[in-house]
Amino acid sequence: MAPTLPHSLPAAAEKQQYVTISALESGQLTLPERLFVTDADPEKKATVPSMAFLVRHPSPGANGRSTTNLVFDLGIKRDVTKYMPAMQTHISNRQPTIHHPDTADSLRKGGLDPANDIDIVMLSHVHWDHVGTPEDFTGSQFVVGSGTIHLLEHGAPPHYPKEIFDPDMLPRDRTKELPPVGKSTTAFSSQTTQKWEPLASFPAALDFFGDGSIYVIDTPGHLFGHVNLLCRIGPNKWIYLGGDCCHDYRILTGEKDIALYDDGHGELRSVHVDTDAAKQSVGHIKTLMPGGELLADGVNKVEVIVAHDGGWREKNKDRFFPGTV
Ligand SMILES: [Zn+2]
Repeated sequence: MAPTLPHSLPAAAEKQQYVTISALESGQLTLPERLFVTDADPEKKATVPSMAFLVRHPSPGANGRSTTNLVFDLGIKRDVTKYMPAMQTHISNRQPTIHHPDTADSLRKGGLDPANDIDIVMLSHVHWDHVGTPEDFTGSQFVVGSGTIHLLEHGAPPHYPKEIFDPDMLPRDRTKELPPVGKSTTAFSSQTTQKWEPLASFPAALDFFGDGSIYVIDTPGHLFGHVNLLCRIGPNKWIYLGGDCCHDYRILTGEKDIALYDDGHGELRSVHVDTDAAKQSVGHIKTLMPGGELLADGVNKVEVIVAHDGGWREKNKDRFFPGTV
C-alpha cells in the first residue's frame, strides 16, 4: 500500500473553481523590531504595509457582476481621528503611519466601487491596522472570526482594554461571526450547514463557498477570532493569506522566533494574546512552506503572504490591483 502523505491539500474537483487574488495598498505603520522578533536590533524600526487583498470568485455577485468579490482585511483608516481616543494614543507610538491610498482608494484605482462592488468583507482580526473604514462598504456582508463581537464590546484586558475598541465599528445587521470550532454554521452561498473540519495540517478549516476554492483557516493565538484564508488560484497553485500569524516573514522561515518582552506588570508577553497557540499556528503554516512536509509531494505550490511583509510588497508591485497575484 502506498504511504499516505499526512497533510495533503485536497485535490481539485472535476470542475474546480479557482479564485483570482490582487493585493491592495491599504496604508503603512512603523513597527519596532524588538517587539516582534528575537535577537532584534533594539533601535531598529521598520515602516511596513498593512496589506488587504481582493479575492474574486467566479460566481455571480450583486449588481449583475460575473464575480463574487471578497476583500480580506481593510488596512488602516484614512482618517486617524476616527479611531477611539485610547487607540490614537497607541498609534502615536507607531509613527510614521501612511493613510493613503487606503483600501477604498485602491479598489477604485482598479475600477471597483467599494460601496457597490464588494459582496463580502472578511477581517482576519480587529486590530486597528486591519479594520480600515468599514463605512465605505455599504453593500457588503462582513464576516469575522469567533469571539470578535465580544472583543469589540468588552475588550480583553489587561493588554486590550475595552477603550481601544469601537463596539459600533461593524454594521451588526450585515455582520456574520463565524462559529467557534466544533459548531456548525450556514454556508455563505446556500442554506446548507457546514462545519469546521481538519484540512492538511490545520485542525479547523471552513470551505467558505462549499466548492474547495477558499478555505477559512482557524488560526488561534494572535487575537481572538484570528482567521486566515487558503485560496486555490489554479491547478495545484494556492495562496495562503496569513494576516498577523506573524509580522515578519523570517518567523515562517525559522530564521527568527516570536519576541517576548516585559508587559509592564512583571510578566513576559508577545504581540500575540496566546503565544503558545500562535507558535502552533505558525507551525501548521510552515508545513505549506518550501521544504515543509506538505510540499513533499512536489505537486502543490503554496505562496504564503502575511499582511505586514514589506519585502513581499517591494518585490511584487505588479501584483497589486488591478494586477493579480
Ligand atoms: Zn494584529
